[in-house]
Amino acid sequence: MNTPREAPAQHAREPGDRALLAALSLDDKVSLLTGADNWRTRALPAIGLRAMVVSDGPAGVRGVTMDERNPASSLPCPSALGATWDPALVQALAAALGAEARSKGVDVLLAPTINVMRTPLGGRGFESFGEDPVLIARLAVAFVRGLHQAGVAAAVKHFVANDSETGRWTYDARIAEHVLRELYLVPFEACVREADADLVMTGYNKVNGVTMTEHGPLLGRILKQEWGFGGVALSDWHAARSTVATALAGLDLAMPGPDGPWGAKLAAAVRAGEMDEDVVDGKVLRILRLARRVGALGGGQEGSPDDRTGRGPALADPALLRRCAGAAFTLLRNEGGALPLDPGTVRRLAVIGPNAVNPVTQGGGSATVPQAGVSTPAVALTEALDGQARVIVRPGCVTWTIVPEPPRYALRDPATGEPGVRIEFRAEDGTLISAEHRGATMFTWWDGLPGGIGRGRGSIVLRTCYLAAQDGPHVIGAGGVGRLTLTVDGAVAAAGRTGAPADPVEAMVRPGEIRATASLAAGRETEIGVCLRPDDWPQGPVAIRLGLVPAPDEDALLRQAVDAARAADAAVVVVGSSPAAESEGFDRPGLALPGRQDELVRRVAAVNPRTIVVVNAGMPVLMPWADRVAAVGYAWLPGQAMGVALAEVLLGQAEPAGRLPVTIPAAEADCPVLHAAPDAGRLEYREGLLVGYRGYDRAGTRPRFPFGHGLGYTTWVYESAAARPTPDGGLDVTVVLRNAGPRTGREVVQAYLEPPADDPGRPVRVLAAFTAVTAAPGECAEARLTVPARAFARYDEAAGTWRRPPGEFTVRVGRSSADLPLHLRVRP
Ligand code: BGC
Repeated sequence: MNTPREAPAQHAREPGDRALLAALSLDDKVSLLTGADNWRTRALPAIGLRAMVVSDGPAGVRGVTMDERNPASSLPCPSALGATWDPALVQALAAALGAEARSKGVDVLLAPTINVMRTPLGGRGFESFGEDPVLIARLAVAFVRGLHQAGVAAAVKHFVANDSETGRWTYDARIAEHVLRELYLVPFEACVREADADLVMTGYNKVNGVTMTEHGPLLGRILKQEWGFGGVALSDWHAARSTVATALAGLDLAMPGPDGPWGAKLAAAVRAGEMDEDVVDGKVLRILRLARRVGALGGGQEGSPDDRTGRGPALADPALLRRCAGAAFTLLRNEGGALPLDPGTVRRLAVIGPNAVNPVTQGGGSATVPQAGVSTPAVALTEALDGQARVIVRPGCVTWTIVPEPPRYALRDPATGEPGVRIEFRAEDGTLISAEHRGATMFTWWDGLPGGIGRGRGSIVLRTCYLAAQDGPHVIGAGGVGRLTLTVDGAVAAAGRTGAPADPVEAMVRPGEIRATASLAAGRETEIGVCLRPDDWPQGPVAIRLGLVPAPDEDALLRQAVDAARAADAAVVVVGSSPAAESEGFDRPGLALPGRQDELVRRVAAVNPRTIVVVNAGMPVLMPWADRVAAVGYAWLPGQAMGVALAEVLLGQAEPAGRLPVTIPAAEADCPVLHAAPDAGRLEYREGLLVGYRGYDRAGTRPRFPFGHGLGYTTWVYESAAARPTPDGGLDVTVVLRNAGPRTGREVVQAYLEPPADDPGRPVRVLAAFTAVTAAPGECAEARLTVPARAFARYDEAAGTWRRPPGEFTVRVGRSSADLPLHLRVRP
């Protein structure tokens, strides 16, 4: 695959691979089945096999370290990509991601995440494309194809039912087989059958009593035999926890390494007759096939040509990132033409909200990348309106739960004087092993530290001189897993021990923190030190973090925001998730906006009728004020281009093109699924197929904003629809619609299918196909949608096959799951 490809599925084994296999001893073979370290497979120079490099992930390619000196393009998060409903754009973005991966020497991207947003409480929901399997499948196939175009392999994840985080290592998802088949497996099946994905990553969880890495029926029978998957089934990190059971079930690669349940133990199991060597051979052949595809066979070196020539990484085109973030922006309400803002009439704009100043542009966990720079709404709007309108910025309130990191420009390395910090690695007796200048205040290491420190030995010290911008109390936080000491001007200000978090990734997202408050003087430097003696805990990374902010006075912040709004022609209020709230490793406690943000919106709206609320969150939040503000839009977690993309959309230079990939509830209790946490280790998928809009429709509950909803800057009239069966049992639907508004626009046309007879246990209707059209004012457009044959079938568990219920189906067509003006009766 080092040659770009768009190949159809073909799983023929290279005869050459059999010859290579024949040359290997059993010990050589098993050595290939466990990683060499966290991010590399094993090399075997004797057969010309180099190591393959794997990297996260779905919103950027981080590389093998988390290091601000090797930044990555930060893409809109997958739920934002879900909001584009635009497979072609997603494919283009994934191709750019693939090119960046190649330039960083990465062969396999651990992406896309194709689990389902089963509950809006899911901490990792931002990493999914949506709540509907058809939407996810279309975008996932496009994503995988985009990576392939660039010659990079995709590891689709996490197979399967890894839809929430609480207890993710062990929970047992109890799911009926027809629900698995018709919902949770759909995106995986599409990626394997249509996009020829090279790897499938198994989750940590169990499904119906069996751990996914040991799940013979799902891995061996369905994935490999039924779907013909010819690639590598790799474990999520540390998910393989047995030797023979995982090997026999169909797992091919245990990550990370070098330790793990396989290696010598697997060879011993073969020698003891517990399994045939053929089983090992099959896995090796799959790994060789992958190696051939990514160009790792044939004696080459690890890393890319760009790496070796020092040309540096090929970061994605900022214009593409901006376009995608704008295409994802979902305008949910726009009363009286509040948007777009016309600089001719808006002379004074108040830009308000904690996320206007400190936006959350990416989710936490393995999806996080070191960003090169972030465009904030406050700065981007100020720049975009420069010379046309006065922009007043007010944060309005604070929402953080761990102390925010200080800006780099306020920090100075005490040794070199450069902006940033000094990191020292010290041995157990305090001797300095090494030190380096760094430009960040949060660091994570997976693969060991200089001098073997970490894991209960030695210490890491972060030192910096902080230049305060204002007089008064400041809150300082020191984070890490282990024993922490925080010093201010050489004196100990706080000390303590933080515990190991419930999930290892929390160490890099929100490690335990000790805090102190110090009174600082504006314009004076204060020397801050954080010393961490890392605990010895087996699976987590080592991380250290410094937070430092002026102690907030929330009443004053709110007052200042309301005063600014009162004096402005319009107010843009950017609210949303707090930093580290949406992450891998833990679920969301609820859907309400954190802190005093609801109060902020209400008070601003009370003094300014042209209040435009922008929600910066990867998943649904409650909007109790939605009817009282002029406009509401969803920006998602849009990556580094947030501000510039938002400014373009708000000022009408680009159309807000997004449509909701997930239903937004009016009240939390209305959500069809509100339990992310297992009960006594079990997570009952009791709702069956009634996830998301399917659950709302069945219950007759009106959401705040329905699945598929989104406004542009023009209006559309749906005029007619016609259908024609396809030879393979599907249906071609043609829809004519007219742009009845003032601007050229893009409309996402959605077709939903209703079965011949209603069944209370099943959805009223499901999304079957979608496409987008563009048209100039007054023009008609013809949308062509193809409903595949499978959309008409349901899985018959007793017969173990797909069956189409007899009778006439209804196809409903329109602009959201709740706005479907046209319908057709069909018997395909
Ligand atoms: C995550 C995976 C990720 C892996 C490597 C795991 O904790 O669940 O999605 O690819 O770590 O970072």
